[in-house]
Amino acid sequence: MKTIKNFGRKVGCKRCGRKRGIIRRYGLHICRQCFGEIAESLGFKKYS
Ligand SMILES: [Zn+2]
Repeated sequence: MKTIKNFGRKVGCKRCGRKRGIIRRYGLHICRQCFGEIAESLGFKKYS
């Protein structure tokens, strides 16, 4: 029996909980939309 209960906590964006377009780079685990918002504060440039 495989019990996969607490696997990775919540699967989705940390901020909005969205499950689509999740970016797991940099250990952020957030969606692209939230990434665009916090990207500036983190020093990343938006998709230009
Ligand atoms: Zn999000």
